[in-house]
Amino acid sequence: MRLDQPDMPPLSREECARLGWTDIDILLVTGDAFIDHPAFGAALLARWLIAHGYRVGIVAQPRWTNIEDIVALGRPRLFAGVTSGALDSMLAHYTAFRKKRRDDAYTPGGRAGARPNRATVVYTGLVRQAFPGLPVVIGGIEASLRRATHYDFWTDAVRRSILLDSKADLLVYGMAERALVDVARAIEKGDPIALASLRGVAAADSKSREMPSQSEDIEQLPSHEEIVADPRRLMDATLAFERQTHNGAPWLTQLAGGRNVWFAPPAAPLTPGELGELYALPFTRRAHPRYTEPIPALEMVQFSVTAHRGCAGGCTFCSLALHQGRRIQSRSFESIADEVARLKRHRDWRGSITDVGGPSANMWGARCLREGHTCRRTSCLVPAICPHFAYDQHAAADLLDALARIPGVRHVRVASGVRHDLALHDPEYMHALAGRYTGGQLKLAPEHACDNVLRLMRKPSFDQFERFMAVFDDASRASGKEQYIVPYLMSAFPGCTDADMHTLARWLRAKGWKPRQVQCFIPTPGTVATAMYHARIDTEGHPIPVAHSDAERLKQHRILAPAAD
Ligand code: SF4
Repeated sequence: MRLDQPDMPPLSREECARLGWTDIDILLVTGDAFIDHPAFGAALLARWLIAHGYRVGIVAQPRWTNIEDIVALGRPRLFAGVTSGALDSMLAHYTAFRKKRRDDAYTPGGRAGARPNRATVVYTGLVRQAFPGLPVVIGGIEASLRRATHYDFWTDAVRRSILLDSKADLLVYGMAERALVDVARAIEKGDPIALASLRGVAAADSKSREMPSQSEDIEQLPSHEEIVADPRRLMDATLAFERQTHNGAPWLTQLAGGRNVWFAPPAAPLTPGELGELYALPFTRRAHPRYTEPIPALEMVQFSVTAHRGCAGGCTFCSLALHQGRRIQSRSFESIADEVARLKRHRDWRGSITDVGGPSANMWGARCLREGHTCRRTSCLVPAICPHFAYDQHAAADLLDALARIPGVRHVRVASGVRHDLALHDPEYMHALAGRYTGGQLKLAPEHACDNVLRLMRKPSFDQFERFMAVFDDASRASGKEQYIVPYLMSAFPGCTDADMHTLARWLRAKGWKPRQVQCFIPTPGTVATAMYHARIDTEGHPIPVAHSDAERLKQHRILAPAAD
């Protein structure tokens, strides 16, 4: 069935009625306020599913003391999709030192407290209560990165798959557009969710579900109980997920309490044509009109443009790269230019594109020349750029130049983090970046000054950052601009000692810099760095020193940020 795209996906029965919908096919429940912008997963998926003929209604930030908000749009015909929102709900609610945050960028007025802790589990329970028998599919970053047994920093405990805790029927991991349409079609056909035929999903054993056959290539992960007994097994499991995310095979399976959880290979990424269709959908780039206060997250990205997905860096602490994968999926120039043409018709447009980027700013168009081969590397960029990694910084600069030439565009800025090891390879890109696309300050993430720590992070060596700074300063001066690099730094990373933090502090003092962006490492679920933190080993299994307790972490953090708590 072909459906017209609504002005805004509906959040109430009245809005459904205005669209002529007597009911909905799919209910999306999210822990964020609803923002109709392609930078937000709920909007992307709602409009993508509508484009595929499904009537989608949204319940955003429902109260969790009763089911009143959950039932507001009625029982959906096919299934409910549940997400905590753009962030893991525990990360959204607590600081690096486990103190309650007072703000929330994804809520009107920036106020904290609009979603529960472990939102995916709580919302799934509400949906079960409201609509008995309705299939529930969980997704988003919280579900994705907690899909198997994982370390939970906030309780300092190993937790089993969120599928088992939430009792959801299915989990969609990674970017969900393709998998969710496949799930909708499977349910619509009346099949029990036939796991064996789907990609990008996970599910627990069930008698009513077709499981992968023994002829499939299946890797048995350490069980939940083995990981609880021996933290080192968490590293084995985490590295297996990293390999699966990158290479696409085999199936993984993990036992927990006598039940198997199955993890299908990832869904194929969207093609440039499909990405073009997705970003051509008529997002209004506004919050739903029911909200009367500004939402900080929208203000940050309202006129930004996503040029690509994925990051080839493979940094061990990065949840986003695990979620989106290492393969770069770039939009075509035409698709990006079309989006800019639509930005210009927005009532709030003032002529500035505030960012053109993705997880890293300058990987647009990059690709692996050996696509389809199994790759044993964990990063395309470190310890040195892989000879099969094709990247063209010239093309990245040309893209920015072409967007800046579009009539009505006054400024184009790069606000996503620049990958400095790549940028260094093209002086013209550096001149374009410093001369035309930096608005006074450039965000860069060297993360540390000690190569022993950078190696564990899978970041480029520090001398590359120093070379980048020198070239950026020269290029800024040549353009007659006074501008600065804002370095993003991290304390208490696994393997980092107090002495390493003092080395970093000395380097900053020698430069006369007062660090403004220092993040104490937070062991978020599912990352390799979190396995290092929990098991106190590197990826080869060698012991490493770890600032583990909050007191040890705070001590390191205060070496750079004395006022922190
Ligand atoms: S072969 Fe090289 S470029 Fe290709 S995925 Fe592996 S590391 Fe990356």
